[in-house]
Amino acid sequence: MTVRIIGAGLGGLSAAIHCAAAGHEVVVHERGPGPGGKASEVQESGFRFDTGPSLLTMPFVLEQLYEVADATQAERVELLPVDPICRYHFADGSVLDAAADEEALLAQVRAFAPGEDEALRRFLDYSQRIYELTSDIFLFNSLSDLKKLLRLRNVPTLLRLPQIDAFRTVHEGVASFFHDTRLRQLFDRYATYNGSNPYRAPATLNIIPYVEYRLGGFYVRGGMYALVRSLHAIAGRLGVRFHFDSDVEGLETGDGRVRGLRAAGVFHPADAVISNADAVYTMTQLAPISDRAKQKYEKLEPSCSGLVFLWGVRGVRDTLAHHNIFFSENYREEFEDIFTRLRAPEDPTVYVSITSRADSDHAPAGHENWFVLVNMPYLTESNREDSIRGMRDRILERLRRAGVDIEEDIVHESVVTPEDLEKRYNANRGSIYGISSNARNAAFLRPRNRIRSLPGLYLCGGAAHPGGGVPLVMLSGRLAADAVLADARDRSRG
Ligand SMILES: Cc1cc2nc3c(=O)[nH]c(=O)nc-3n(C[C@H](O)[C@H](O)[C@H](O)COP(=O)(O)OP(=O)(O)OC[C@H]3O[C@@H](n4cnc5c(N)ncnc54)[C@H](O)[C@@H]3O)c2cc1C
Repeated sequence: MTVRIIGAGLGGLSAAIHCAAAGHEVVVHERGPGPGGKASEVQESGFRFDTGPSLLTMPFVLEQLYEVADATQAERVELLPVDPICRYHFADGSVLDAAADEEALLAQVRAFAPGEDEALRRFLDYSQRIYELTSDIFLFNSLSDLKKLLRLRNVPTLLRLPQIDAFRTVHEGVASFFHDTRLRQLFDRYATYNGSNPYRAPATLNIIPYVEYRLGGFYVRGGMYALVRSLHAIAGRLGVRFHFDSDVEGLETGDGRVRGLRAAGVFHPADAVISNADAVYTMTQLAPISDRAKQKYEKLEPSCSGLVFLWGVRGVRDTLAHHNIFFSENYREEFEDIFTRLRAPEDPTVYVSITSRADSDHAPAGHENWFVLVNMPYLTESNREDSIRGMRDRILERLRRAGVDIEEDIVHESVVTPEDLEKRYNANRGSIYGISSNARNAAFLRPRNRIRSLPGLYLCGGAAHPGGGVPLVMLSGRLAADAVLADARDRSRG
């Protein structure tokens, strides 16, 4: 069987490895010059930067992928626990290090906001319970049909919907545990891990703090792009062929199923096509489906976008850790800007990640490589023009308020805008994570890994099930590959 994959993002690489490891011929068509998609890398002026993800969670997902590929030690990346996982700088000037070790974290929270440590322990237990109730159905399986969802073993979970907290928002769930407004802000932030709004997304997303604090947050030695290199090399060893600079223009169908794809006017036949390109883009721009069917996809609310500054900075600041968050003063207003007014936030929360803290060769001596990210609205007709204007000053001003004045020390700068994400990767409206989880039923609205109405077409990546973020897109690659392989088995049985 020949499987063609559109896109060499992390989801596409995972799908390619799974299909090739099962013995199939796999060809990947990627419009960019190399693999990685949003997880790319820039090397300039002696600095090295990741342009996308910086923190890896759920390491066992990667471990499973390596096992499927029979990866050697030399082929695997090294994962380093990050401690503190993040340094939080609040608008009132206070600072909290979120230690990786839970007992140390509880002690820090006790000193920071007396009494709230007990709340934190209960919160993490609650977060863990949601994970245990939901991960099997919503993460590790394809949610492909109702029959599967209603399997006897899932019924207890569906009956326990109140326990997975689908009827409150992330913020309401968090606020029911913590009195301290700073800790509320800290735990509300996890909704942004899949590009959602904590004041609208269901509290089921409060699963994420469990994933980060109890399953661990990791740095990939060499930077996240080392993971892309690792998976690309493994796929190559398994016989996957990569066509870079190969922009897929459409899918070809015949007798009611997908027969292949078209790139640079040339037809490439396939028994199955897995699209790792954004699911909404795939269904509205590549798939030959009716306008009515397209509307269903166009209505899905994208996740937020992001604006990235890659700054080469002179000097080393002791007040910063590897991962840092500088919170805005009014979080609710920030999300009103991003998701309701759909405009750049007036007072942004600023994320700064510095990989030269772990890998000193990522910056010249006496310098650091700052990856600086602020959340932005997804692109609309009216916000394209002003999307980034003024943001550089707002970010520098936020840092200055925390006593971090770097403006004169920026010796290198490059920028990744929401429009870059759209143009380079066909990310729907520049979204970082695909589809937002702001609706209570978002998990059910998300495009599935198998498109039943167009046999032969499968989806993986952040806008498909189970969602965005590095471990989830690798899972989506596996789920899409599983669907391809299961359908092939069914066909061969006649
Ligand atoms: C700034 C930023 C920070 C992030 N931080 C984190 C983080 O810390 N932790 C985390 O877990 N996640 C993070 N993420 C999210 C994570 O990077 C993404 O969820 C993940 O990398 C997306 O992978 P994907 O498989 O969906 O594919 P993508 O990376 O979207 O790749 C899709 C590929 O398809 C290609 N393509 C599209 N259309 C075509 C076509 N017509 N023909 C051929 N090829 C095509 C694109 O060029 C691209 O290479 C971040 C993302 C960004 C942008």
